[in-house]
Amino acid sequence: CGVFGAYRVSSAAALSYYGLHALQHRGQEGCGIAVSDGKNISCQKGKGLISEVFNEESLSKFNGDIAVGHVRYTTAGGNTIENVQPFLSVSHKGTLALVHNGQIVNAKELRCKMEDEGSIFQGTSDSEIVLHLIQRQKGSLLEKIQKTAQMMEGAFAILVMSENSIYAVRDKYGLRPLSYAKVQDGYCISSETCAYDVIAGTDIVDIKPGEIVKFSDGKVEHFSYTNDIKHCLCAMEYIYFSRPDSTLDGINVHLFRKKSGVLLAEYDKDLEADIVIGVPDSSISAASGYAEARRLPYEMGLIKNRYVARTFIQPTQELRDRGVRMKLSAIRSIVENKRIVLIDDSIVRGTTSKRIVRLLKEAGALEVHMRIASPMICSPCFYGVDTSTKEELIASRMNVDELKEYIQADSLKFLNVEDLCKIKGGTGLCTACFDKQYPTELYSYKKIVE
Ligand code: 5GP
Ligand code: SF4
Ligand code: MG
Repeated sequence: CGVFGAYRVSSAAALSYYGLHALQHRGQEGCGIAVSDGKNISCQKGKGLISEVFNEESLSKFNGDIAVGHVRYTTAGGNTIENVQPFLSVSHKGTLALVHNGQIVNAKELRCKMEDEGSIFQGTSDSEIVLHLIQRQKGSLLEKIQKTAQMMEGAFAILVMSENSIYAVRDKYGLRPLSYAKVQDGYCISSETCAYDVIAGTDIVDIKPGEIVKFSDGKVEHFSYTNDIKHCLCAMEYIYFSRPDSTLDGINVHLFRKKSGVLLAEYDKDLEADIVIGVPDSSISAASGYAEARRLPYEMGLIKNRYVARTFIQPTQELRDRGVRMKLSAIRSIVENKRIVLIDDSIVRGTTSKRIVRLLKEAGALEVHMRIASPMICSPCFYGVDTSTKEELIASRMNVDELKEYIQADSLKFLNVEDLCKIKGGTGLCTACFDKQYPTELYSYKKIVE
């Protein structure tokens, strides 16, 4: 998911529209914006893309200079309208709107406890629990949010908006990215920095793990809610999830991917090949790094059709195969009679790689050497990235040799975990889906990993 907030900027809803549009790659299933005019909070949300849910007319009716918004991608909870954010809670103290990116691993435990004590939940999303928890605490809104953050285990980048303030909260592991920037005379907060380019944001500041940043009375204040900090930003944010023009915790995503390609090239000093091809779009950066390091030509051997339906339903193998043909095609004149190094960012179920190798061979490729710019994904994510269930993860069933046979590549190599971490300076990355080193307690998910 992606979160966006605007504090004291004119037409906060319209600005949030642009911000969320830049974050659309983080979730396409639903979206919403809540706006405050200083007295009242109003909210609009729906299923689908930001351009499908909002239009000029609906945005112009949305007055106010404070807003929070969300693009949704389903992990915890189902894809129903009750789970589309922002979530609102109305009490005699006022209204709060909340948006959340991540997944709370002790949500079930917190929810059961609250239900036993009388809480009633509308949806199945764990983000709703956060709002209830905040409402139950005593003290100032900051204190309530601090206490709530201390109770939650897992991944969260959360924005809480009251009638006249926004609080931005990042979990103590910094699993999900979150930053803010100066925009006009106010501020915007975003999951990714690419949103600031569209809205002319400057002076970008990363919100630190374990921090709460309060936007109130026209100023910004930083607070921490714990000293127990272990920085490990999700590696998949760099590998696949984030946009290449975003900078996360000080490292640009494109450059991170390019470096992963350079490191992959070091495994291949003796491999003879003619061209390097990246699987569009997310693997192009890594492929360019590999090609540069090995002084091989980078070629556009695969073309992506941009207009493939987002939720292409593929009930049969035949239709799934056609799906990949609709999405990608090989350029015969480039790949014919060539020994190809094919770079992809990751292997999850293994089906895409298998099809692409076949596509290239059918177009006349002599050899296809597959290189993956991440380690083997062998364990599920419980922090808000849909890396699939353990059964579906092909690397949980096969070793590299078996996988090579399965996808029918001439050779197959993965980036190792150590090299992956090296790109971020040796520490500071979550790599749990590769090495099962989950940074948090896992509660009810523990049995899945064992
Ligand atoms: P503070 O600066 O004390 O952290 O919070 C500023 C405002 O937040 C005050 O107006 C306070 O009443 C309000 N506040 C505290 N708890 C809540 C709450 O649960 N919901 C809303 N909307 N406002 C709250
Ligand atoms: Fe990211 Fe994998 Fe960690 Fe999940 S388990 S947060 S996908 S690195
Ligand atoms: Mg890909």
